[in-house]
Amino acid sequence: MKVLVINCGSSSLKYQLIDSESENALAVGICERIGQDISYLKHTPNGGEKIVIEAAMKNHEDAIKMVLDALTNSKYGVIKSLDEISAVGHRVVHGGEKFATSTIITDEVIQAIEDCNDLAPLHNPANLIGIRACAKLMKGVPMVAVFDTAFHQTMPPKAYLYGLPNEYYNNYKIRKYGFHGTSHSYVSQMAAKFIGRDINDSKIIVCHLGNGASISAVLNGKSIDTSMGFTPLAGLVMGTRSGDIDPSIIDFIAKKENKSLDEIMNVLNKESGMQGMSELSSDFRDLNDAIDIGNEKARIAFDVFVYRVAKYIGSYIVAMNGVDAIVFTAGVGENDWRVREEVCEYLGFLGIKIDLEKNMLRGQAVMLTQPECKVKVCIVPTNEELAIARETVSLL
Ligand code: AMP
Repeated sequence: MKVLVINCGSSSLKYQLIDSESENALAVGICERIGQDISYLKHTPNGGEKIVIEAAMKNHEDAIKMVLDALTNSKYGVIKSLDEISAVGHRVVHGGEKFATSTIITDEVIQAIEDCNDLAPLHNPANLIGIRACAKLMKGVPMVAVFDTAFHQTMPPKAYLYGLPNEYYNNYKIRKYGFHGTSHSYVSQMAAKFIGRDINDSKIIVCHLGNGASISAVLNGKSIDTSMGFTPLAGLVMGTRSGDIDPSIIDFIAKKENKSLDEIMNVLNKESGMQGMSELSSDFRDLNDAIDIGNEKARIAFDVFVYRVAKYIGSYIVAMNGVDAIVFTAGVGENDWRVREEVCEYLGFLGIKIDLEKNMLRGQAVMLTQPECKVKVCIVPTNEELAIARETVSLL
């Protein structure tokens, strides 16, 4: 069956049409700058050229109309009619404590997602707009919500509770939720297969290092801890996000610079991390180029990033009382040899020694450690869209 996977951001909409039997993407694309004067649809049919269409998309409903037109277009479309789409899988960022698994979308589910809006005010409303637009334009086609937070709902209270007065958890559900769950779930399963272990008897650390980055400890197929928290701002140093900081810094900056909380949160989310420290770029390709020509700030930012990743790995080895595999995935994890090499330098005490030539490979699953290494280190490409399509098919 053909599954349309939709990932709505506040001003963008990514999509893939996936054939669930072959697991191939028949078309992939993105609508950008939704709500602005000029928006774009970038659409690539499998095996074909990417086309870019400029059009005004006032809202996500317009964007979904454009996507459906592109999919059925006589020149660059990949299906004859919308009847060929059997289901839609939606990425939803926050499912709170209500959703520990993916779910078929009903009116009650839409309401429950809406109830989680204040936990993810930038993301969940956009996800809901996408869900409602599809419901309107594709009447009767079943839809499934796949939550970024769901995989981490297996964390025990000792991992998800903060050291705050209980009332904040009781009244507002302030706790660690964790994100990138679809990726952590998919990659840990693929990694268990790749190293030849039963997922139900395995200790895997997944390093999802992209523009946003998080690490999780996956024990016997279940997330028991993860580095993002109540929001995706916590944990690792990221492209533009600070990751963990001492909370008192917020009050200190507010007083020193007479900044509002909103302004400071904007700094922490959009002007910090690799961008803020390097004063150059949030993109690891730029940082690597800068390091190659001796840029000190880029080098220090890189050191901070790698050190933080290594420390989280260490803490999750303690949390699981051991580890079978450490897995790198997402844009940086899959592509950046320097990050992997330098993180692994911290892990020599585990007997880890990676093959530096294999570490230059990209775009495929790669075993980086020698067969005699007890702890395996590997690259496993993530594929959140395929994971969403699989969930959608399995629920229907
Ligand atoms: P993601 O959020 O998973 O899509 O990852 C995007 C990030 O991956 C970019 O911002 C880059 O920092 C990083 N990235 C992509 N390609 C490369 C590459 N060839 N080398 C190093 N980093 C890369």
